[in-house]
Order: sequence, then structure tokens, then C-alpha cells
Amino acid sequence: MIEVHTPSTWELCRCCQNKADVRYEFYFGNHGYSLPMCIKCVAKLHEITAKMAERNPVTQVKPTTKLELAKQIIKENKSRADCGIFNTVNIVGDPMSSLYDDGELQVDICEYYGYFEVFGLSEEEFAELEKFYDECEVE
Ligand SMILES: [Zn+2]
Repeated sequence: MIEVHTPSTWELCRCCQNKADVRYEFYFGNHGYSLPMCIKCVAKLHEITAKMAERNPVTQVKPTTKLELAKQIIKENKSRADCGIFNTVNIVGDPMSSLYDDGELQVDICEYYGYFEVFGLSEEEFAELEKFYDECEVE
């Protein structure tokens, strides 16, 4: 759930400390986050996200199924994102970078908050991936 509000006049951009133009409020499970930002920094975040996605090489693995591939990617990257795994739509304002995307499976990471977003799996597959994630040891 994402709500965009007009910020209070005194609020400053979380990134550059100039006056905030927008305020994002969103919820992850029981956690609510609020992110005042200026328009410039929102644009910059999108730019950085795109660059990071370019720089991250696609994980080279040849698994048998999408689920196995997702597990592999999660295992390799869990140390950078041990705060959760979601299959919900991207959160506006969070700098996401793509770890993998072949059009059928997409795994994104938010290094700022330390979580994954995974798209393309069935509910059953995602449930198994969540279990795998919870049990996966951080290397
Ligand atoms: Zn700013």
C-alpha cells in the first residue's frame, strides 16, 4: 500500500536536506515507512536504480525451474538483504536494483532497506521460496 501526501512545510528531503516536494508513506507487513523527498532526488533515485541494474551482472546459473533459479539468486545475495522477501509491487521511492530478469522471473533487491522482491512465481512457489529464504544461512 502506497500513499503519497503533501509534506509538511518544515519537512526536508531525506537525501539532500532541501525542502521536500512529496512524502511517500507505505507499509510492509506491520512496518510503516515514510519518506519525504524532493522531486530532484526522486529522479536521481530512479537514475541510480537504472545504473545499478546495468552494473549488476545477471547471475549465471542453469537451474531446472524458475523456483530453483530464484533460490539460487536469493542464496547468493541474502547477506545484502536479510530483512524480508516480498512478491508485491515495487515501492515508490525505494531504490531497487534488478538482480535477475528474464521476462519470466524477476528478482530485485533493495539494499537500502535490505529486502528482495520476486515476481513471476506462483503462490505455492513463492511460499516455498519464503521458507527457503527464512532457513537460508547468510554466508
Ligand atoms: Zn532531495
